[in-house]
Amino acid sequence: MHSKLIIIGSGPAGYTAGIYAARAMLNPLLFKGSQPGGQLTITTEVENWPGNEVIQGPDLMKNMEEHAKATGVNIIDDHVIEIQVDEQPFVIKSDKKKMYTANSIILATGAQAKWLGLPSESKFKGFGVSACATCDGFFYRNKEVVVIGGGNTAAEEAIFLTKFANKVTLIHRRNKLRAEAILQKRLLSNDKINVLWDHELVQVLGNDNPLGVTGIQVRNVNNQKMANINCDGVFIAIGHAPASELVIQKLKTHSGGYVVTDADSTKTSIPGIFAAGDITDSKYRQAVTSAGMGCMAALEAEQYLSEQDLD
Ligand code: FAD
Ligand code: NAP
Repeated sequence: MHSKLIIIGSGPAGYTAGIYAARAMLNPLLFKGSQPGGQLTITTEVENWPGNEVIQGPDLMKNMEEHAKATGVNIIDDHVIEIQVDEQPFVIKSDKKKMYTANSIILATGAQAKWLGLPSESKFKGFGVSACATCDGFFYRNKEVVVIGGGNTAAEEAIFLTKFANKVTLIHRRNKLRAEAILQKRLLSNDKINVLWDHELVQVLGNDNPLGVTGIQVRNVNNQKMANINCDGVFIAIGHAPASELVIQKLKTHSGGYVVTDADSTKTSIPGIFAAGDITDSKYRQAVTSAGMGCMAALEAEQYLSEQDLD
């Protein structure tokens, strides 16, 4: 199947690109990928999307999908496994073993949760270790959990977990949070949350049969003293890495895989390929900035196709 424009990703960047491209009569095809709706589908309240004082992340993404469909975006429920970018048209291969060609591509594959990389973290992943409180918080009703990290995600996860858990301990490697002020205030004033400053996770402790977490071992980064903390669940919230596996050897990237774009543009190192949202943004990483870049990418793709007489 050939398209003038293929958009990879169904987060705020992808859907916004789709809406603009469809309205420009480019008949775009959009791949949803394995996380339809993107990162906002694993959170609860979004309080900084203009026009909605508060909206649930999954509802916001449903609205975007419906808007994209209504403008005529052809949404494909499939994941891209390979793209070939050496010559025009570009070739895209999907998980469902289909092949597509396109004259232009918008990469909007976003970001994925980072892990610490500890063997014990891998061992208990899905058995007491998680990176998604909205997905797994429910299992910790009346239990004790810890959250690792000091950014917005860690603060939100800790606050969210107090709906279920009796006690939440936020463990941060420094003595200052990165989370925005309003979240810090909510976190620090919550009676169920205790913050352990200047500590890092050394290992997750637990049983083998059945596999499950019973606690963690932490180290004080100032004096190297070790301590054990009892808990039933461990939530890793240490940030996100760009989902750029498809293009890592093919396009210019920086700082751990963020796709490089021209200044004030979504143009990548290959003409006809554009990048929008968290895949290219190591700084702001917000829904609204991702949507803004999605708009830019569609407008730039339209201009590119018109310059090539392909529109
Ligand atoms: P993403 O939302 O990451 O979407 C990426 C999309 O690409 C997904 O649909 C995925 O399926 C698809 N994809 C990936 N690889 C492939 C592939 N190979 N083939 C096909 N598709 C693929 N921001 C805010 O502004 N406000 C908030 O309140 C807020 N809360 C957050 C809470 C949490 C828990 C998290 C994790 C993030 C939060 N953010 C928030 C950040 C916000 O979610 C991101 O900045 C935004 O979602 C990035 O949008 P995106 O479109 O670039 O990518
Ligand atoms: P982040 O802002 O990068 O914060 C990551 C946190 O994890 C930092 O506190 C960091 O510590 C810590 N950390 C990183 N690596 C670690 C390691 N190896 N060991 C221990 N701790 C480690 O990531 P995020 O909180 O996931 O947020 C990502 C983006 O999404 C941000 O731009 C954020 O604003 C956005 N977001 C927004 C909202 C919202 O608007 N409400 C909600 C969630 C996310 P240091 O502080 O020491 O570096």
